[in-house]
Amino acid sequence: MSSEFVITPVPRPVLPVVGTSALFPVRRAYCIGRNYAAHAREMGGDPTREPPFFFNKAGDALQAIAYGRPERHPYPSMTSNYHHEIEMVVALKSGGVDIPEGEALNHVFGYAVGFDMTRRDLQDEAKNLKRPWEVAKSADASGPVGPIHPVAAVGHVAKGFIRCTVDGVTKQDSDLSHMIWSVSEQIAILSKFYRLEAGDVIFSGTPEGVGRVDRGQRMTGAVEGLGEIVLDVA
Ligand code: MN
Repeated sequence: MSSEFVITPVPRPVLPVVGTSALFPVRRAYCIGRNYAAHAREMGGDPTREPPFFFNKAGDALQAIAYGRPERHPYPSMTSNYHHEIEMVVALKSGGVDIPEGEALNHVFGYAVGFDMTRRDLQDEAKNLKRPWEVAKSADASGPVGPIHPVAAVGHVAKGFIRCTVDGVTKQDSDLSHMIWSVSEQIAILSKFYRLEAGDVIFSGTPEGVGRVDRGQRMTGAVEGLGEIVLDVA
């Protein structure tokens, strides 16, 4: 006798893969905090002393963004200070626990450009009140991500520009080589806390220059070799 669902299961969010019609199904989204020294300082941290920390964005808070045309990005409810955080996104094809740093990159399927969009006012409030960050970090559609570039096509991405503009003005402009914790280290450390699985993605941190965007503004996000996504905030 076959099982039935009492409600219709919701399909996983998917991200397109460059150069193929196949799709990457997303399981969890992990994010690292304060992974560029200048951003850690602008958020009031000390990049020389702090071990890495991680938080989650709901996997279904990702918004798949295609190349070639601006896509509408919905301004979320319950904020009046919505911030852009341009980030490189790492997509895993396999996982495990206690993954050695030297083997970590073997689990990477590919890389994409994305944003860890943040209700900064709610994050500041959560910090002040010692409350969790979910309402700040996991708004619906708060993880716009471009198509994934497979490792087979672009290799492993560890350096190159990472940029964000708002209405044509450059707001964030750094280099992936300025990450404090490398992608290998992020995977190794995360796998001590969780069993990583195929379909997990990791937002690898944002450089300095985060700031607000409002309805009616156009954001672009780009990472060298991974293309550019264009978002109209509405
Ligand atoms: Mn972030």
